Amino acid sequence: MVESPLGKRVNVLDKGWIELVDLMPHPESKVSGDLAIVNAARVSFLGESKGPDRDKRLLFYLLRHRHTSPFEMVEFKFRVRAPLVTWWQWVRHRTWNMNAQSGRYTPFKEEDFYVPDVWRKQSADNKQASEGTLEASESLELTDKLLRHYDEGYRLYEEALERGVSKEMARLFLPGFSVYYTWVTKIDAHNLMHFLRLRMASDAQYEIRVYAKAINEHFFAPALPWTAEAFRKHVLNQAE
Ligand SMILES: Cc1cc2nc3c(=O)[nH]c(=O)nc-3n(C[C@H](O)[C@H](O)[C@H](O)COP(=O)(O)OP(=O)(O)OC[C@H]3O[C@@H](n4cnc5c(N)ncnc54)[C@H](O)[C@@H]3O)c2cc1C
Repeated sequence: MVESPLGKRVNVLDKGWIELVDLMPHPESKVSGDLAIVNAARVSFLGESKGPDRDKRLLFYLLRHRHTSPFEMVEFKFRVRAPLVTWWQWVRHRTWNMNAQSGRYTPFKEEDFYVPDVWRKQSADNKQASEGTLEASESLELTDKLLRHYDEGYRLYEEALERGVSKEMARLFLPGFSVYYTWVTKIDAHNLMHFLRLRMASDAQYEIRVYAKAINEHFFAPALPWTAEAFRKHVLNQAE
């Protein structure tokens, strides 16, 4: 029996994390997530479980033939902390329900900025992508400049607040793409697979790919082992 991922928090990037705060069906429900999908499909002819072998075969059939609505019967709710560069790619996926921290209400803290481990170089053949990394000494030099940039931006942010400027305006001084944000967000298994397919792919930006991979490994696969297997086989076309 796989341990339930409900309540688990996984660290991502230097200061980010993602945790599963709710799951439907709940792990204590009599019906597992995979079975909830199978049972929803069998509503078509008013049946329910026919034993693990036939249930699993049906689930694989559903995904192979893109009969996707039964997969919408399972829902995941996460809390995510990630830099804005991740957030703004994430929100392009309209099928997530979201509520985010407000920078108009909660002041940012000095440590709320993303510091990458390495500096990736521009890809030679893909204008949107990166490949390879800078030499270690050059990386250290750039990281040092980045930290000084953050310090200066944050100092100006604090100065504006001290002058009585509103939080909604003072934040114009903060380095935009790097600031960490927290949000709560919910999605069903069908739309989650769509997100994972796009954002785990090698052409997705690293800063969102690591979150997609964390969801896949730590939450999606443990919650829905059959669906995850069918997803690898029929959507990602991976050999087991
Ligand atoms: C590698 C990569 C590079 C990208 N580069 C850019 C870029 O340069 N510029 C940019 O702007 N975006 C870019 N995007 C974002 C991309 O264009 C999509 O907006 C994003 O991936 C969300 O995909 P989606 O619309 O399929 O997902 P969702 O919004 O989650 O929608 C899921 C599915 O629901 C259906 N759907 C949802 N809403 C509608 C609707 N209103 N009408 C019809 N069908 C709907 C569609 O079938 C859709 O595929 C990039 C994405 C990736 C993965």
